[in-house]
Amino acid sequence: MILDTGRENSRLKERLERIVREKRISHAYIFEGPSDMDKEAFARGFIKGVLCPKDLGENCGMCSICDKVDHGNHEDITYFRKDGMSVKDAAIESLQEKIKVRPIGERNIMVICDSDTMTPKAQNSLLKTLEEPPGDALIVLLSDNMENLAPTILSRCVKFRIDVQPETVEDEEARRLIGMALKGCRFHEIVREAGDYVRDREKAWLLLDSMERIYRDLAVENGAEVRSYKIEDICGYVDHIEEARLRLKRKMSAEYAMKELLLAITG
Ligand SMILES: [Zn+2]
Repeated sequence: MILDTGRENSRLKERLERIVREKRISHAYIFEGPSDMDKEAFARGFIKGVLCPKDLGENCGMCSICDKVDHGNHEDITYFRKDGMSVKDAAIESLQEKIKVRPIGERNIMVICDSDTMTPKAQNSLLKTLEEPPGDALIVLLSDNMENLAPTILSRCVKFRIDVQPETVEDEEARRLIGMALKGCRFHEIVREAGDYVRDREKAWLLLDSMERIYRDLAVENGAEVRSYKIEDICGYVDHIEEARLRLKRKMSAEYAMKELLLAITG
């Protein structure tokens, strides 16, 4: 079990377990999560899933490997942390040395904590490693805000957002509606499904927030999974959500604002 707070995380956990189980592990991952969240604990959960010999994808939490990961003394795992305010070039240089060493187990794992504080020079050095990652090395970048990382780094990593908020009823509704839209359901079907959310102003406001969050999550998730949408479309949908908010603020009817939005996202 990787982590069990919030339904978003159990969804993320399932996806990570599936990636390991199906042996689709990429060379580099970015996990972005709130600053007050213990992202290293999250990374340890993922790493145990990768290394634990008992259950592919999951982890037993009891074997000697899981135990070493938990206690931070697994020989193949190295953590890099910031020195002062930032992760400096020296840390990345030592990563590059470490990653060349033959692992004791199946792979070297490098965890860069607070990776979004990397200096431009450090990011540049890391980019070279990400362009040609040696063997089965796995690089995990933990970050509060991945927008601080260079686009060239982002494009070479599989990105996940860890969300600690439990899913609300509006999130569930938004997820259902967005899912229908992405699957190509018709406008009137989606309006029917949305029910009171297209009539009640309060509900409409809440739904808009949930929809925006879900679209933003979709926009940062890339890589391993097959995508049925384009990033440009997703950004356009987020703009339409903002338009719907403006309409509500201008006291236009909730029905008008929401139907315009649903029309826009069903294309
Ligand atoms: Zn284990």
